[in-house]
Amino acid sequence: MNIKNVVVIGSGTMGSGIAAHLCNANIPVTLLDLKTEISEKARERIHKSRPPLLIDKTKINNINVGNISDNFDVVKNADWIVEAVVERIDVKHQIYEKIFKSRKAGAIVSSNTSSIPIKVLSQNLTDIEKKDFCITHFFNPVRYMGLLEIVKNENNDLNKINQLKEFCETELGKGAIVCNDTPGFLGNRVGVYAMQIAMTEAFKMKLSVEEADAIFGRPMGIPKTGVFGLYDLIGIDLMADVLKSFIKELPETDEFHEVAKEIPLVKKLIETGYTGRKGKGGFYRMNKSGTTKVMEAINLETGVYSPSKKIDIKSDKVDLNGLINRKDEYGEYAWSVISKIIKYASSLVPGITNQFNDIDEAMRLGFNWAKGPFEMLEEIGVQNFFNKVDDFSGNNFLEELNKNKNEDFYGERQKYTNIETLGKVKKTAISLDGNDSAKIYRFQDYNIVEFTTKANALDYDSMDALKKATDKPLIIINESMQFSAGVNLTYTMQFADKNDFKSIEKFIKYFQETCKHLKYSKYPVISAPSGLTLGGGFEVMVQSNFVASHTNIVVGLVETIVGLIPAGGGCKEMLGRWLDTEQAKKDPNFAPLKVFDIIGYGKTATSPVEAEPLKYLRPQDKKIMNRNSLLEVSKKILNENKSFKEPEELVFKLPGESVRGEMNKIIEKLYNKKVILDHGVQVAKELAHVLSGGDTTIDKTLTEDDLFKLELDAFMRLIETKKTQERIKHTLATGKPLVN
Ligand code: NAD
Repeated sequence: MNIKNVVVIGSGTMGSGIAAHLCNANIPVTLLDLKTEISEKARERIHKSRPPLLIDKTKINNINVGNISDNFDVVKNADWIVEAVVERIDVKHQIYEKIFKSRKAGAIVSSNTSSIPIKVLSQNLTDIEKKDFCITHFFNPVRYMGLLEIVKNENNDLNKINQLKEFCETELGKGAIVCNDTPGFLGNRVGVYAMQIAMTEAFKMKLSVEEADAIFGRPMGIPKTGVFGLYDLIGIDLMADVLKSFIKELPETDEFHEVAKEIPLVKKLIETGYTGRKGKGGFYRMNKSGTTKVMEAINLETGVYSPSKKIDIKSDKVDLNGLINRKDEYGEYAWSVISKIIKYASSLVPGITNQFNDIDEAMRLGFNWAKGPFEMLEEIGVQNFFNKVDDFSGNNFLEELNKNKNEDFYGERQKYTNIETLGKVKKTAISLDGNDSAKIYRFQDYNIVEFTTKANALDYDSMDALKKATDKPLIIINESMQFSAGVNLTYTMQFADKNDFKSIEKFIKYFQETCKHLKYSKYPVISAPSGLTLGGGFEVMVQSNFVASHTNIVVGLVETIVGLIPAGGGCKEMLGRWLDTEQAKKDPNFAPLKVFDIIGYGKTATSPVEAEPLKYLRPQDKKIMNRNSLLEVSKKILNENKSFKEPEELVFKLPGESVRGEMNKIIEKLYNKKVILDHGVQVAKELAHVLSGGDTTIDKTLTEDDLFKLELDAFMRLIETKKTQERIKHTLATGKPLVN
């Protein structure tokens, strides 16, 4: 479809997010609001947004702004007009009247409504106008949330809807799911129900908010904000409005009503300004007294806050069966919540969609769940589920499944897209291998390694899987949010706590050996990162032969922040890249100083556009908007490199002592300005030692192994210090850096 020009009307949270994302896709876009000032403010907000809505902040001025009185003429040239004004039907109707008077024939008009049915939105439109009108429901924040629900009406030109879907997939990188005109469509209908069930069951079973969030979180493959944390994030008042709209729209017989009843504590929180993170706090609040900050959680029975407790459920894995079979209240809560979500979601088929697997995808893309309700059912096992579940009469889907007890009921995944996704391909592997930290999927011509730990943190087993999988061309790719947040620091600290530094050394050596193997084995290795690609995760990527990167990555070497230096080849590779520049050829200090600056500050990039100037990514690395396409692109790279030859080993000429002097001056300056403290100096000096090449001079040649050795020795000296260990422990406990 030829969409060359878009107008977005309404420049609030969603309108600005949509405009920013169109700008990410290099599509000319104009953002209109009641007054130009409002649109301009939106542009400022986009520029400052965190996480950034723009892939390339320098493109902010590509978003044109204006107001609907003076600048409405822009609509005449638009191929697509997106309405994202307030959720009020009178306002929306007025806007449509204006749009349809001005738009060029055939231009698509869509609404971003989250709750108004399309039949109501389009009630004043002519049949011809209806042909081009639909709902395009984006999720917040638009750049990062994969889901786009497209809702059609009975008059739509289906060809056009399909073209729009394809445009949103290929150009905007969205998982575009076409769904029926039912309240909350797919994602919110099931997602909000799930939140309500998780909340009401916690009240019923007298669990604490921390306990509920610890269960309805990572162990279920749900983001760690859990339910109460998510409520605070969305806004408790906004959730109340959402519930009201569901109550109004859904028939009385719908199970939703059971879980959407007003809860006195929630009402009181809203009335007293405890609307969540944007207000005074919510189920959690940060209590600041003087210089101390204490995270507190509310008691669901008394409404009194007390310091939040960390709940250790003694499992870090997504393991549904382990969870629901626990013989304690956590197991009981998990089963109650999961079984009710499965029952509700299945009761909606075929009403809200006749593809049950679209519901799973909506939960995955719109709520970042690892698995949707039907995949949960698949994991639990059909027989197991029916052995445990209570009444499900009237639920056609479950009644049918109970009759045939087909454990393979699921079939193909991700039916909503024609792209050959990792999710689909995984199911067709010839054999499955691997360990607790990574899976190896073996195919005829290539292997896939998918990391499987929390945040895909790397350990000995992750390396083992990578090494084993290089007997064929290898693609390192994953479905979960992060490519890898780096080396597993908990694992490393377990050895450090026992003074078992030999084991740490063994692990780092194995890490280096594996990365070297990735780079120089006779088959090509491709990394397809998305999300966090930090520290050790970056080192795996950078030592792969090819990269196919999603445009949403956070990439960098951040080891110094925890008092370490990159020791899996990160220093070496960054030196290699910066030595291969014109400036480095003229000035031997250029590359070491540049890399010292980048790694010393632990610089990260939040997109490929930011990553290239740092040389975290190279121009030839592929950058892809649609995460679903990472596998296809990786396979294409394999096809194009049938006669792959491993690269030549790098050699390094480094100035040694002379550049170290320069680095020491920088360290001293930072120390005097108190940017770094005593341990910061020690870490920086170790980094300087590695990047200067150690005891070398510019006329000598160092090999990659020499650099590996320098990295390893510096790393070991640092990990043995109390202060690095304190930094690591602090970061593990709080998620924040410790400056010491
Ligand atoms: P918002 O309140 O942040 O922004 C609405 C914008 O519309 C404001 O800038 C307002 O000035 C402008 N506006 C009001 N009347 C207008 C008019 N006549 N002409 C032009 N502009 C006008 O709202 P939002 O959160 O961005 O929501 C917008 C739409 O997206 C709503 O339909 C909402 O239901 C839907 N939605 C919101 C979210 C979310 O998370 N916020 C998610 C999905 C969908």
